[in-house]
Amino acid sequence: MSTNLLGLNREELARYLEGLGEKPFRSRQLMRWIHHFGEADFGRMTDLAKSLRALLEEHAVVEVPRLISEQRSEDGTCKWLLELSPGNAIETVFIPEDGRGTLCISSQVGCALACTFCSTGRQGFNRNLSTAEIVGQVWWANQALGHDPKGERVISNVVLMGMGEPLLNYEAVVKALDIFLDDFGYGLSRRRVTLSTSGVLPALDRLRERAPVALAVSLHAPNDALRNELVPINQKYPIAELMAACRRYLERAPRDFVTFEYVLLDGVNDTEAHAQELVRCVAEVPCKFNLIPFNPFPNSGYRRSRPEAVRRFRDILMQAGFVATVRKTRGDDIDAACGQLAGQVVDKSRRQQRFETPSA
Ligand code: SAH
Ligand code: SF4
Repeated sequence: MSTNLLGLNREELARYLEGLGEKPFRSRQLMRWIHHFGEADFGRMTDLAKSLRALLEEHAVVEVPRLISEQRSEDGTCKWLLELSPGNAIETVFIPEDGRGTLCISSQVGCALACTFCSTGRQGFNRNLSTAEIVGQVWWANQALGHDPKGERVISNVVLMGMGEPLLNYEAVVKALDIFLDDFGYGLSRRRVTLSTSGVLPALDRLRERAPVALAVSLHAPNDALRNELVPINQKYPIAELMAACRRYLERAPRDFVTFEYVLLDGVNDTEAHAQELVRCVAEVPCKFNLIPFNPFPNSGYRRSRPEAVRRFRDILMQAGFVATVRKTRGDDIDAACGQLAGQVVDKSRRQQRFETPSA
Protein backbone atom coordinates (compact mmCIF):
# COMPACT_ATOMS: atom_id res chain seq x y z
CA MET A 1 0.00 0.00 0.00
CA SER A 2 1.24 3.49 -0.78
CA THR A 3 2.25 5.69 2.16
CA ASN A 4 0.29 8.93 2.50
CA LEU A 5 2.95 11.60 2.98
CA LEU A 6 0.37 14.20 4.10
CA GLY A 7 0.33 12.60 7.56
CA LEU A 8 4.08 12.29 8.19
CA ASN A 9 5.90 14.79 10.39
CA ARG A 10 9.40 15.88 9.39
CA GLU A 11 11.17 13.18 11.34
CA GLU A 12 8.96 10.43 9.93
CA LEU A 13 9.33 11.78 6.42
CA ALA A 14 13.12 11.89 6.77
CA ARG A 15 13.14 8.26 7.93
CA TYR A 16 10.81 7.30 5.10
CA LEU A 17 13.14 8.89 2.53
CA GLU A 18 16.13 7.15 4.08
CA GLY A 19 14.24 3.89 3.68
CA LEU A 20 14.00 4.64 -0.06
CA GLY A 21 17.76 5.24 -0.15
CA GLU A 22 17.35 9.02 -0.39
CA LYS A 23 18.85 11.89 1.60
CA PRO A 24 16.75 12.60 4.71
CA PHE A 25 17.00 16.39 4.31
CA ARG A 26 14.85 16.17 1.17
CA SER A 27 11.98 15.97 3.67
CA ARG A 28 12.12 19.77 3.95
CA GLN A 29 11.66 20.30 0.22
CA LEU A 30 8.93 17.72 0.09
CA MET A 31 7.04 19.22 3.03
CA ARG A 32 7.20 22.65 1.44
CA TRP A 33 5.65 21.31 -1.75
CA ILE A 34 2.91 19.48 0.09
CA HIS A 35 1.99 21.98 2.80
CA HIS A 36 3.10 25.41 1.51
CA PHE A 37 2.23 24.99 -2.14
CA GLY A 38 -0.55 22.43 -1.72
CA GLU A 39 0.98 20.19 -4.38
CA ALA A 40 -0.26 16.61 -4.36
CA ASP A 41 1.34 15.51 -7.65
CA PHE A 42 4.99 14.41 -7.31
CA GLY A 43 5.48 14.93 -11.04
CA ARG A 44 5.08 18.67 -10.57
CA MET A 45 7.64 18.99 -7.75
CA THR A 46 10.12 20.40 -10.19
CA ASP A 47 13.17 20.85 -7.97
CA LEU A 48 13.23 17.19 -6.95
CA ALA A 49 15.43 14.84 -8.97
CA LYS A 50 13.52 12.90 -11.61
CA SER A 51 14.64 9.63 -10.00
CA LEU A 52 13.15 10.69 -6.63
CA ARG A 53 9.92 11.78 -8.24
CA ALA A 54 9.65 8.39 -9.95
CA LEU A 55 10.30 6.56 -6.67
CA LEU A 56 7.66 8.59 -4.86
CA GLU A 57 5.15 8.01 -7.63
CA GLU A 58 5.71 4.31 -7.23
CA HIS A 59 5.56 4.09 -3.42
CA ALA A 60 3.78 7.13 -2.01
CA VAL A 61 0.76 9.38 -2.39
CA VAL A 62 -0.43 12.73 -1.09
CA GLU A 63 -4.01 11.85 -0.40
CA VAL A 64 -6.34 14.61 0.76
CA PRO A 65 -9.96 14.28 1.93
CA ARG A 66 -12.62 14.58 -0.78
CA LEU A 67 -14.74 17.72 -0.76
CA ILE A 68 -18.47 16.99 -0.53
CA SER A 69 -19.72 20.53 -0.18
CA GLU A 70 -18.70 24.07 0.59
CA GLN A 71 -20.95 26.71 2.16
CA ARG A 72 -20.17 30.36 2.67
CA SER A 73 -22.11 32.33 5.25
CA GLU A 74 -23.10 35.99 4.98
CA ASP A 75 -20.64 36.83 7.76
CA GLY A 76 -17.69 35.30 5.87
CA THR A 77 -17.69 32.00 7.77
CA CYS A 78 -16.96 29.04 5.47
CA LYS A 79 -17.79 25.44 6.10
CA TRP A 80 -16.46 22.44 4.23
CA LEU A 81 -17.94 18.98 4.46
CA LEU A 82 -15.15 16.51 3.75
CA GLU A 83 -15.47 12.81 3.09
CA LEU A 84 -12.77 10.70 4.73
CA SER A 85 -13.98 7.29 3.70
CA PRO A 86 -17.39 6.09 2.51
CA GLY A 87 -19.98 7.07 5.15
CA ASN A 88 -17.53 9.09 7.24
CA ALA A 89 -17.72 12.85 6.86
CA ILE A 90 -16.39 15.68 8.97
CA GLU A 91 -16.74 19.41 8.95
CA THR A 92 -14.14 22.11 9.03
CA VAL A 93 -15.09 25.73 9.64
CA PHE A 94 -13.21 28.94 8.86
CA ILE A 95 -14.08 32.05 10.88
CA PRO A 96 -12.64 35.38 9.71
CA GLU A 97 -12.23 38.09 12.36
CA ASP A 98 -10.46 41.42 12.46
CA GLY A 99 -6.80 40.73 11.82
CA ARG A 100 -7.00 36.97 12.01
CA GLY A 101 -8.55 33.91 10.44
CA THR A 102 -9.32 30.91 12.59
CA LEU A 103 -9.81 27.40 11.27
CA CYS A 104 -11.79 25.07 13.50
CA ILE A 105 -10.91 21.43 12.82
CA SER A 106 -12.19 18.03 13.89
CA SER A 107 -10.20 15.19 15.45
CA GLN A 108 -12.75 12.36 15.55
CA VAL A 109 -15.92 11.33 13.72
CA GLY A 110 -18.42 11.65 16.58
CA CYS A 111 -17.32 11.63 20.21
CA ALA A 112 -17.54 9.05 22.98
CA LEU A 113 -17.75 11.50 25.86
CA ALA A 114 -21.47 12.21 25.56
CA CYS A 115 -21.68 15.72 27.00
CA THR A 116 -25.42 16.25 27.24
CA PHE A 117 -25.61 19.62 25.43
CA CYS A 118 -23.41 18.61 22.47
CA SER A 119 -24.85 17.22 19.24
CA THR A 120 -21.56 15.48 18.39
CA GLY A 121 -21.72 13.75 21.77
CA ARG A 122 -25.30 12.67 21.09
CA GLN A 123 -24.17 10.96 17.88
CA GLY A 124 -21.81 8.65 19.68
CA PHE A 125 -18.30 7.73 18.61
CA ASN A 126 -17.53 6.42 15.17
CA ARG A 127 -13.78 6.57 14.64
CA ASN A 128 -10.56 8.47 15.14
CA LEU A 129 -9.11 10.62 12.38
CA SER A 130 -5.63 9.80 11.13
CA THR A 131 -2.92 12.46 11.18
CA ALA A 132 -3.37 12.86 7.42
CA GLU A 133 -7.09 13.45 7.90
CA ILE A 134 -6.50 16.06 10.60
CA VAL A 135 -3.83 17.85 8.55
CA GLY A 136 -5.95 17.42 5.41
CA GLN A 137 -8.48 19.89 6.81
CA VAL A 138 -5.87 22.67 7.01
CA TRP A 139 -4.51 21.64 3.60
CA TRP A 140 -8.03 21.97 2.12
CA ALA A 141 -8.82 25.27 3.71
CA ASN A 142 -5.48 26.69 2.57
CA GLN A 143 -6.26 25.67 -0.99
CA ALA A 144 -9.79 27.04 -0.85
CA LEU A 145 -8.90 30.35 0.79
CA GLY A 146 -5.52 31.07 -0.77
CA HIS A 147 -3.52 34.10 0.26
CA ASP A 148 -4.77 37.62 0.98
CA PRO A 149 -3.75 40.58 -1.24
CA LYS A 150 -0.66 41.22 0.91
CA GLY A 151 0.47 37.65 0.39
CA GLU A 152 -0.27 36.65 3.98
CA ARG A 153 -1.76 33.26 4.77
CA VAL A 154 -5.48 33.63 5.38
CA ILE A 155 -5.42 31.03 8.16
CA SER A 156 -3.54 32.51 11.11
CA ASN A 157 -4.95 30.33 13.89
CA VAL A 158 -6.02 26.71 14.18
CA VAL A 159 -8.31 25.47 16.95
CA LEU A 160 -9.11 21.83 17.68
CA MET A 161 -12.69 22.62 18.61
CA GLY A 162 -14.67 20.82 15.93
CA MET A 163 -15.98 17.30 16.29
CA GLY A 164 -14.39 14.94 18.77
CA GLU A 165 -12.18 14.94 21.83
CA PRO A 166 -8.62 15.52 20.61
CA LEU A 167 -6.99 14.00 23.68
CA LEU A 168 -8.77 10.69 23.04
CA ASN A 169 -6.96 10.59 19.68
CA TYR A 170 -3.64 11.59 21.18
CA GLU A 171 -1.02 10.04 18.86
CA ALA A 172 -2.60 11.25 15.64
CA VAL A 173 -3.26 14.71 17.10
CA VAL A 174 0.28 15.37 18.38
CA LYS A 175 1.75 14.41 15.02
CA ALA A 176 -0.66 16.81 13.32
CA LEU A 177 0.49 19.48 15.80
CA ASP A 178 4.11 18.80 14.75
CA ILE A 179 3.15 19.55 11.15
CA PHE A 180 1.15 22.68 12.07
CA LEU A 181 4.11 24.08 14.04
CA ASP A 182 6.89 23.09 11.62
CA ASP A 183 8.24 25.94 9.48
CA PHE A 184 8.26 23.52 6.57
CA GLY A 185 4.67 22.58 7.39
CA TYR A 186 2.21 25.36 8.27
CA GLY A 187 4.61 27.45 10.37
CA LEU A 188 2.09 28.39 13.07
CA SER A 189 3.32 29.47 16.48
CA ARG A 190 2.29 27.48 19.55
CA ARG A 191 0.26 30.44 20.71
CA ARG A 192 -1.85 30.29 17.57
CA VAL A 193 -2.79 26.64 17.84
CA THR A 194 -5.36 25.87 20.53
CA LEU A 195 -6.44 22.46 21.72
CA SER A 196 -9.81 22.26 23.42
CA THR A 197 -10.50 19.39 25.81
CA SER A 198 -13.21 18.38 28.20
CA GLY A 199 -10.43 17.21 30.52
CA VAL A 200 -8.80 13.88 29.68
CA LEU A 201 -6.14 14.39 32.31
CA PRO A 202 -3.40 11.81 31.78
CA ALA A 203 -3.24 12.83 28.12
CA LEU A 204 -3.13 16.52 29.08
CA ASP A 205 0.00 15.87 31.14
CA ARG A 206 1.57 14.09 28.18
CA LEU A 207 0.68 16.93 25.83
CA ARG A 208 2.44 19.39 28.15
CA GLU A 209 5.69 17.47 27.65
CA ARG A 210 5.27 16.58 23.99
CA ALA A 211 3.67 19.55 22.21
CA PRO A 212 2.40 22.29 24.53
CA VAL A 213 0.05 24.51 22.56
CA ALA A 214 -2.52 27.00 23.84
CA LEU A 215 -5.17 25.31 25.96
CA ALA A 216 -8.93 25.67 26.20
CA VAL A 217 -10.84 23.59 28.74
CA SER A 218 -14.56 22.91 28.51
CA LEU A 219 -15.68 23.58 32.06
CA HIS A 220 -19.43 24.33 31.79
CA ALA A 221 -20.19 23.93 35.51
CA PRO A 222 -18.77 25.30 38.78
CA ASN A 223 -19.19 22.15 40.90
CA ASP A 224 -18.80 18.39 40.52
CA ALA A 225 -22.47 17.54 40.98
CA LEU A 226 -23.52 19.61 37.96
CA ARG A 227 -20.41 18.88 35.88
CA ASN A 228 -20.85 15.13 36.42
CA GLU A 229 -24.20 15.52 34.72
CA LEU A 230 -23.24 17.86 31.84
CA VAL A 231 -19.71 16.60 31.12
CA PRO A 232 -19.75 12.94 32.23
CA ILE A 233 -15.96 12.52 32.05
CA ASN A 234 -15.95 14.64 35.21
CA GLN A 235 -16.98 11.49 37.09
CA LYS A 236 -13.55 10.13 36.27
CA TYR A 237 -11.51 13.35 36.47
CA PRO A 238 -13.27 15.76 38.86
CA ILE A 239 -12.83 19.53 39.01
CA ALA A 240 -10.10 19.67 41.69
CA GLU A 241 -7.90 17.32 39.63
CA LEU A 242 -8.72 19.26 36.47
CA MET A 243 -7.61 22.54 38.08
CA ALA A 244 -4.38 20.96 39.33
CA ALA A 245 -3.67 19.62 35.83
CA CYS A 246 -4.29 23.09 34.34
CA ARG A 247 -1.75 24.58 36.74
CA ARG A 248 0.82 21.96 35.74
CA TYR A 249 0.09 22.60 32.06
CA LEU A 250 0.69 26.32 32.43
CA GLU A 251 4.28 25.68 33.53
CA ARG A 252 5.05 24.69 29.92
CA ALA A 253 2.32 26.43 27.94
CA PRO A 254 2.97 29.13 25.32
CA ARG A 255 0.36 31.37 26.97
CA ASP A 256 0.16 32.18 30.65
CA PHE A 257 -3.55 31.45 31.01
CA VAL A 258 -6.07 28.73 30.28
CA THR A 259 -9.29 29.62 28.46
CA PHE A 260 -12.29 28.11 30.21
CA GLU A 261 -15.21 27.52 27.89
CA TYR A 262 -18.63 27.70 29.45
CA VAL A 263 -21.80 27.02 27.47
CA LEU A 264 -24.65 28.97 29.04
CA LEU A 265 -27.79 26.85 29.43
CA ASP A 266 -30.98 28.56 30.51
CA GLY A 267 -31.79 27.78 34.15
CA VAL A 268 -29.17 25.00 34.32
CA ASN A 269 -25.77 26.65 34.89
CA ASP A 270 -26.39 30.37 34.29
CA THR A 271 -27.56 31.89 37.60
CA GLU A 272 -25.75 34.50 39.68
CA ALA A 273 -25.01 31.81 42.26
CA HIS A 274 -23.34 29.69 39.55
CA ALA A 275 -21.20 32.65 38.47
CA GLN A 276 -20.10 33.31 42.06
CA GLU A 277 -19.29 29.64 42.60
CA LEU A 278 -17.32 29.65 39.34
CA VAL A 279 -15.16 32.51 40.60
CA ARG A 280 -14.21 30.41 43.64
CA CYS A 281 -13.79 27.25 41.57
CA VAL A 282 -11.02 28.66 39.33
CA ALA A 283 -9.30 30.76 42.00
CA GLU A 284 -5.98 28.90 41.70
CA VAL A 285 -5.70 28.96 37.89
CA PRO A 286 -4.72 31.99 35.78
CA CYS A 287 -7.52 32.00 33.23
CA LYS A 288 -9.90 33.77 30.90
CA PHE A 289 -13.49 32.86 30.16
CA ASN A 290 -15.17 32.23 26.87
CA LEU A 291 -18.92 32.22 27.47
CA ILE A 292 -20.70 30.37 24.67
CA PRO A 293 -24.38 30.90 23.96
CA PHE A 294 -25.88 27.41 23.61
CA ASN A 295 -26.55 26.41 20.01
CA PRO A 296 -29.79 24.48 19.98
CA PHE A 297 -30.30 21.26 18.03
CA PRO A 298 -33.41 19.03 17.75
CA ASN A 299 -34.44 17.33 21.01
CA SER A 300 -31.53 18.81 22.93
CA GLY A 301 -33.74 19.53 25.94
CA TYR A 302 -31.84 22.80 26.59
CA ARG A 303 -32.47 26.45 25.82
CA ARG A 304 -30.04 29.27 25.21
CA SER A 305 -29.71 31.58 28.26
CA ARG A 306 -31.57 34.87 28.11
CA PRO A 307 -29.42 37.89 27.17
CA GLU A 308 -29.87 39.46 30.65
CA ALA A 309 -28.62 36.25 32.26
CA VAL A 310 -25.58 36.20 29.96
CA ARG A 311 -24.81 39.84 30.81
CA ARG A 312 -25.19 39.27 34.54
CA PHE A 313 -23.02 36.17 34.42
CA ARG A 314 -20.28 37.97 32.51
CA ASP A 315 -20.44 41.01 34.81
CA ILE A 316 -19.90 38.88 37.92
CA LEU A 317 -16.80 37.32 36.36
CA MET A 318 -15.51 40.72 35.25
CA GLN A 319 -16.12 42.30 38.65
CA ALA A 320 -14.04 39.49 40.14
CA GLY A 321 -11.18 40.58 37.84
CA PHE A 322 -11.47 38.04 35.01
CA VAL A 323 -11.44 38.64 31.29
CA ALA A 324 -14.71 37.17 30.05
CA THR A 325 -15.89 37.32 26.46
CA VAL A 326 -19.18 36.16 25.06
CA ARG A 327 -18.60 34.22 21.87
CA LYS A 328 -20.42 35.71 18.94
CA THR A 329 -22.49 33.09 17.21
CA ARG A 330 -21.08 32.81 13.74
CA GLY A 331 -22.24 31.01 10.66
CA ASP A 332 -25.70 30.40 12.14
CA ASP A 333 -27.21 30.44 8.66
CA ILE A 334 -25.04 27.50 7.57
CA ASP A 335 -25.24 25.48 10.82
CA ALA A 336 -21.55 26.04 11.46
CA ALA A 337 -21.85 27.16 15.07
CA CYS A 338 -20.34 25.14 17.93
CA GLY A 339 -21.92 21.79 18.57
CA GLN A 340 -23.88 21.85 15.31
CA LEU A 341 -21.25 20.23 13.17
CA ALA A 342 -21.95 17.36 10.79
CA GLY A 343 -25.55 16.85 11.79
CA GLN A 344 -25.91 14.53 8.82
CA VAL A 345 -23.24 12.06 9.82
CA VAL A 346 -24.65 8.60 10.38
CA ASP A 347 -25.39 7.88 14.02
CA LYS A 348 -23.20 5.01 15.06
CA SER A 349 -23.77 5.42 18.79
CA ARG A 350 -20.79 3.28 19.60
CA ARG A 351 -19.64 4.28 23.01
CA GLN A 352 -17.18 1.52 23.74
CA GLN A 353 -14.37 4.04 24.01
CA ARG A 354 -16.22 5.99 26.64
CA PHE A 355 -13.86 7.23 29.33
CA GLU A 356 -11.03 5.16 27.90
CA THR A 357 -7.71 6.87 28.22
CA PRO A 358 -5.43 6.75 25.21
CA SER A 359 -3.52 3.49 25.21
CA ALA A 360 -0.41 4.64 23.38
N1 SAH B 1 -14.14 17.81 22.74
C1 SAH B 1 -13.52 19.05 22.92
C2 SAH B 1 -13.46 19.91 21.68
C3 SAH B 1 -14.68 19.92 20.81
S1 SAH B 1 -16.13 20.68 21.47
C4 SAH B 1 -14.17 19.81 24.06
O1 SAH B 1 -15.22 19.40 24.53
O2 SAH B 1 -13.58 20.80 24.48
C5 SAH B 1 -15.75 22.40 21.27
C6 SAH B 1 -16.57 23.33 22.15
O3 SAH B 1 -17.93 23.43 21.71
C7 SAH B 1 -16.63 22.87 23.59
O4 SAH B 1 -16.38 23.88 24.51
C8 SAH B 1 -18.03 22.37 23.68
O5 SAH B 1 -18.44 22.31 24.98
C9 SAH B 1 -18.78 23.36 22.81
N2 SAH B 1 -20.14 22.92 22.48
C10 SAH B 1 -20.58 21.65 22.32
N3 SAH B 1 -21.90 21.64 22.04
C11 SAH B 1 -22.31 22.92 22.03
C12 SAH B 1 -23.58 23.56 21.77
N4 SAH B 1 -24.66 22.85 21.49
N5 SAH B 1 -23.63 24.90 21.84
C13 SAH B 1 -22.52 25.62 22.10
N6 SAH B 1 -21.30 25.08 22.33
C14 SAH B 1 -21.20 23.75 22.30
FE1 SF4 C 1 -17.14 15.34 22.94
FE2 SF4 C 1 -16.42 17.91 23.33
FE3 SF4 C 1 -18.92 17.29 22.51
FE4 SF4 C 1 -18.15 16.70 25.00
S1 SF4 C 1 -18.34 18.77 24.09
S2 SF4 C 1 -19.27 15.34 23.63
S3 SF4 C 1 -16.03 16.15 24.69
S4 SF4 C 1 -17.04 16.96 21.37
